[in-house]
Amino acid sequence: MSERITGHTELIGLMAYPIRHSSSPAMQNEAFAKLGYDYAYLAFEVGADEIEDAVKAIRTLKMRGSNVSMPNKTLVGQYLDELSPAAEMCGAVNTIVNDHGHLTGHITDGIGFMAALKDNNIDAIGKKMTIVGAGGAATAIEIQAALDGVGEIVIFNRKDEFWDRAVSTVEKINTRTSSHAVLYDLADLDQLKKEMADSYIFVNATGVGMKPLEGQSVVPDKSYFRPELIVVDVPYSPLETAMRSMAKEVGCKTMNGLGMMLFQGSAAFELWTGEPMPIEHMKEILN
Ligand code: NAD
Repeated sequence: MSERITGHTELIGLMAYPIRHSSSPAMQNEAFAKLGYDYAYLAFEVGADEIEDAVKAIRTLKMRGSNVSMPNKTLVGQYLDELSPAAEMCGAVNTIVNDHGHLTGHITDGIGFMAALKDNNIDAIGKKMTIVGAGGAATAIEIQAALDGVGEIVIFNRKDEFWDRAVSTVEKINTRTSSHAVLYDLADLDQLKKEMADSYIFVNATGVGMKPLEGQSVVPDKSYFRPELIVVDVPYSPLETAMRSMAKEVGCKTMNGLGMMLFQGSAAFELWTGEPMPIEHMKEILN
């Protein structure tokens, strides 16, 4: 690393709190080194009270940009000059690009999800997706899927604090994209079974399956799956979940959350450098 840093090296940040656990610095710096790009990516502990000043620092230090994670994803947009259509619709930003002082906010989680599908030869365009979730990851996927042309998006969620967000997501998809969305209560298991029965793809975009909800599943049992259904988990720790184990037993093609993680980083990398990440190299490193 020290051999790589020069007086010309440009800085890219990751602004969140807590953030020391993140694998993004290792991933992004490996990709910059592999392609010989003169950037350095560093994590900064920045909380909600500090994000406005941190954005000023991006301008002052002429940083190329930054990633943003919790608690700043929904806060940082107000300090930027422009938002991508997906970031504006999601009300969240995870990537900032600094073009000579003009800061644009993007959300690459949904882009990463759609790219991970493509990488697994899964083509949901024009087809029906049933998805559970209304939080940050789910909203980004639902909006990007609609913008990319997934035909029908059936959203299930608990009637918890995320419900109103799902109502708003459905309204935005139906008024601002060519896709059609509906929302149901996850407690309505008959409806869940009915919607899954003719879906091309089923996505769990909640924290269920991941610690501390490890071993749990949003789908109650195997009878909800059929072999033709593609079953995707957004959680990635642990990589194997109860839901995908059931789906695999039925013979479904499945995908875990690692691809989305890799490709959301690749999309950010591409926004800063103009080139995609060296994906095959990154997969080797991650495995
Ligand atoms: P969030 O807190 O914003 O949303 C949580 C969601 O889970 C909501 O829809 C909520 O209703 C639902 N939920 C919580 N407990 C539930 C339960 N017991 N039963 C049913 N639904 C429940 O979280 P988020 O940031 O959207 O993250 C969701 C998951 O996605 C996490 O596991 C996170 O690690 C993962 N994630 C993965 C990637 C990736 O790149 N693969 C990216 C972001 C998030």
